[in-house]
Amino acid sequence: MISEKRRLHLQKLINARKGLKFSDEVKKRMREAQRKYFKTHSGNRKGVKLSEETKKKISEARIREKKWVGEDCPNWKGGVTKESEKQRKMGRYRRWRKQVFERDGYTCQLCGQHGGELETHHKKSFINYKELRISIDNGITLCKECHKNVERLKREEQKCSQ
Ligand SMILES: [Zn+2]
Repeated sequence: MISEKRRLHLQKLINARKGLKFSDEVKKRMREAQRKYFKTHSGNRKGVKLSEETKKKISEARIREKKWVGEDCPNWKGGVTKESEKQRKMGRYRRWRKQVFERDGYTCQLCGQHGGELETHHKKSFINYKELRISIDNGITLCKECHKNVERLKREEQKCSQ
């Protein structure tokens, strides 16, 4: 029989060894896992090379894109053209609006309201007569309320004629 003290001491040793054994096993498993990882990603080094090549390609493509910006990248130019076209149209519309207001003396042509919330109405439909969109003769100054009524009447007319 061993003494309690001795038993505890042995148990401690066993546990320590167990722990050691366990950690060794873990280390082994880790090594194996690493080996496996490198094998499956073998990858791995080739992959790094490849991705570096890809990176190079990407950066080259970026440089080309940058060059396009300065030169004539079709997409880039197209975007800008679209935007400037929009702004030009907006500017034209604002000018048309102002001209209509000035001709009508900033007065609603239906109820005679002067100033306040005024809007421009296209006598001939904005959608159907594109060429008349910015024709001063096709514009009329209306107050918000009258404009609403005119639009409503127009819609009703359209419904009746359909
Ligand atoms: Zn009015």
